[in-house]
Amino acid sequence: MEFDLLDLKVALLYHGICVDEEVYEAFEGKARLSKNPFSCNAMILDEQIFCSLSRTEQETPFRLTLNDGNPVITYNNKFLTEISFPKKTSFYEQKTSSGIPFGNLAVIQGLDMLAFACLWRCEITTSGNACGFCHTGNFASPDHSLSEMMEIIRYAVEESPKTKMLQLTAGSTFNPEKEIDQYVKILEAIDKSIGIEKVPTMIYLTPPSDLKQLDRLFDAGVSQIACDMDIWDERLFEKICPGKAKVNTRQRYLDALSYIAEKYGPNRACCVFVGGIEPAESLIEGATFLAEQGIVPLPSPLMPFGVNQKVLAEMQPFSLDYYRKIRKETAKLYQKHNLIVPGTYGSDVCLSRDIWLRREILASE
Ligand code: SF4
Repeated sequence: MEFDLLDLKVALLYHGICVDEEVYEAFEGKARLSKNPFSCNAMILDEQIFCSLSRTEQETPFRLTLNDGNPVITYNNKFLTEISFPKKTSFYEQKTSSGIPFGNLAVIQGLDMLAFACLWRCEITTSGNACGFCHTGNFASPDHSLSEMMEIIRYAVEESPKTKMLQLTAGSTFNPEKEIDQYVKILEAIDKSIGIEKVPTMIYLTPPSDLKQLDRLFDAGVSQIACDMDIWDERLFEKICPGKAKVNTRQRYLDALSYIAEKYGPNRACCVFVGGIEPAESLIEGATFLAEQGIVPLPSPLMPFGVNQKVLAEMQPFSLDYYRKIRKETAKLYQKHNLIVPGTYGSDVCLSRDIWLRREILASE
């Protein structure tokens, strides 16, 4: 099988990469590359595909090194491909008025997407029911005000890197109505600060039991809402996402997604599925079920660093064939149902926009 760039992206996300010090010496400060983990480092594969530079100290066949001064990836010490880095941005040099570095609250994904990740702590994690593949549940953003959040958004949209999309995401909550209150305040503040129409905003949300609460977000100008089921297979969902299954319930995710699609039309509701956990056939079954309703499935590859061995044993062994199946079937769904994955160049850790941009080619593979 010939190896292509999307294969390389999923393999890099799965295995991580070891980065030679000389790469930092050559590029830190000149490109968007930093040893600081809050700078969300990325590589660009063949000037097209953004891929997280998931640096690892663990054993990995991938290495980022220099060849005649150019950054290259090797696999088991054999040359694989040249890469480049995103252009330097002044974003990560900024601090909010109370002194919080911008990068501690928000990161740039891809070329021009600003992601506020984990705005508030995941209550599913604090209750001891974290999803088995989660890296972020224990993360708590430093305390910050709404006006500091707006300082960051205004800078990212108007100064650097000229953000074209916002993603707001937090941990799951046991009180979705309160979460919606918080998001409505944020959307209203964005509107007041720069105008909500200036930057499409996608919110990752815990689905509320009272579905009408979702209307408040659309009234306040949200572009898309994602309620992430992560796993379609019911048994695995209960086992690997016990908090979501017990507290929020699978049915509530489905109800919220369908409500949005029925009331607001196609391409307004999205749902992440984590690739690499369940069999490809079951992920595709879930993606198909949603796509038929105009809900956009977003496959995102598993990054298994730090995942405990017991959970890992439940998951699919890493295989490029697995991801090839998923990308082909997802591309077909995007085409057949005229679905649009929001964004421009896509994100460093997700596959969905990469697939969408190449949907014609991938669907006919
Ligand atoms: S809901 Fe699951 S994946 Fe999301 S932050 Fe909480 S534990 Fe992690």
